Amino acid sequence: MITRDILSQLSKYIDPKRLSVNESELKSVAKDESSLEGQVPSVLVYPVTSLEVSKVIQLAYTYGIKVTARGSGTSLEGNSIPEDGGMVIDFSRMNRIIEIREDDLQVTVEPGVIYNNLNESLKEYGLFFPPSPGGSSDIATIGGMVSTNASGIYSIKYGGTRESILKLTVVTGTGEILELGNHCFKSSSGYHLLGLICGSEGTLAIVTEITLRLRGIPERHDRFAYSFHEELQAALAISEMMKYALDIAALEYLDRHCIASLNQLKSYGLEEKPIIFFELQGSESRIRETKDYIHAISKDYDGQVMTLTSEENPWEIRHHITTAISLRKQGTRIIRNDIAFPISKLPDIVQRCYQKAQNDHLMVHAFGHVGLGILHVLCLADPNNKEEWVKAERFNREMIEYAIEIGGSTSGEHGIGLSLKPYMEKEHGKSLDMMKAIKKLFDPKNILNPSKIFP
Ligand SMILES: Cc1cc2nc3c(=O)[nH]c(=O)nc-3n(C[C@H](O)[C@H](O)[C@H](O)COP(=O)(O)OP(=O)(O)OC[C@H]3O[C@@H](n4cnc5c(N)ncnc54)[C@H](O)[C@@H]3O)c2cc1C
Repeated sequence: MITRDILSQLSKYIDPKRLSVNESELKSVAKDESSLEGQVPSVLVYPVTSLEVSKVIQLAYTYGIKVTARGSGTSLEGNSIPEDGGMVIDFSRMNRIIEIREDDLQVTVEPGVIYNNLNESLKEYGLFFPPSPGGSSDIATIGGMVSTNASGIYSIKYGGTRESILKLTVVTGTGEILELGNHCFKSSSGYHLLGLICGSEGTLAIVTEITLRLRGIPERHDRFAYSFHEELQAALAISEMMKYALDIAALEYLDRHCIASLNQLKSYGLEEKPIIFFELQGSESRIRETKDYIHAISKDYDGQVMTLTSEENPWEIRHHITTAISLRKQGTRIIRNDIAFPISKLPDIVQRCYQKAQNDHLMVHAFGHVGLGILHVLCLADPNNKEEWVKAERFNREMIEYAIEIGGSTSGEHGIGLSLKPYMEKEHGKSLDMMKAIKKLFDPKNILNPSKIFP
């Protein structure tokens, strides 16, 4: 419980104009983009420095107040839903680009910087930060991306967020400020604490400054698409392509149901077949050579080149996918997964997915950064139709459990949050105890986003 006395102590460290107990403001941060119920915190804090964050956490530590860090709240598994009656630290006012080290291909930012805004600012230097989280790139913060190890359309070539983090300033659950990492692209010095913090969903420490490795904007790119008669053929073509280690910058799969949703939302008039969108980057000759391989392999699986008009930028189309699915059928809600698996298993997963959905008469849409072995299967079900809802939940559970059984993972990119906690034991077994012990070291009183990740 946050008393008046605690609030008055807080206002010693934070300008009271950047503290809020206003009901509508508190309600606005009670939820994230999952369909889970929100929890209303007692106070909302807008820090502007690492020191302020440290002071706030020291106070939270003293009184055992639960703290949830918040970027833009676009997480999909309840990751940023706060604790009832706790504190939310909102990073929207820590949104400065602190330093661009052009010659070292690095940038240092505060956590509240929005992904697309960062890349906009980097353009004049000919640099960019690649992960590009599909539909949320215009809103997700760098702090949120670090904390979920977000990935995106270019991760097949450049890796996810974790692969680009060089340095972090973090505040632990006792309020201690730690500097992690260095400015090197490669280091073999000590434990990889950066890797631990990345993807920890604000449960180990609060991230207040981030140095990222950047890449040069490629001299040219080529974006194109192939359509297939069947989802399985597209999946077979993808897993075949991945065997050749082709230099593919982006490879996104959308099934025919996704295309139908997009047509319904935006009247694209696309042929309602499974599609693979590609982007290749680099020199003309390199692009041509890779394109020839892609063409030959696609042909083997009856793939056809799709003609996209100049307005039909694949990434613009891809951007609307979640909205399109959520509006596809009135009265339904999305039950989603975010499974990852070895790439050779893609055809098996795809086949299972549609077979199961057909058997249970469920409406599913599958898409994702499949070149990385990540697939999102979104099932639309009516929460008021108990039979359908139970079937959809069972479908989802079976897909996740199957992914784990074949050596995959519960979450390829969205993190565990609240909804995926039940699968942690199956995926991690005894090593879950080691994770809990690590959590205790960083956060001895269990105040940082305490109800997340662990079952
Ligand atoms: C339409 C749509 C499309 C999406 N597409 C993708 C995609 O392609 N790839 C992908 O990876 N994700 C995707 N996501 C999920 C989401 O956008 C990402 O997880 C994103 O990284 C979250 O950023 P955020 O700023 O909204 O963070 P939030 O949702 O606010 O927070 C995410 C987690 O990070 C923690 N956190 C936030 N800031 C800090 C901080 N400074 N220190 C410590 N912890 C912190 C929060 O407590 C929470 O646990 C999508 C979401 C939507 C709605």
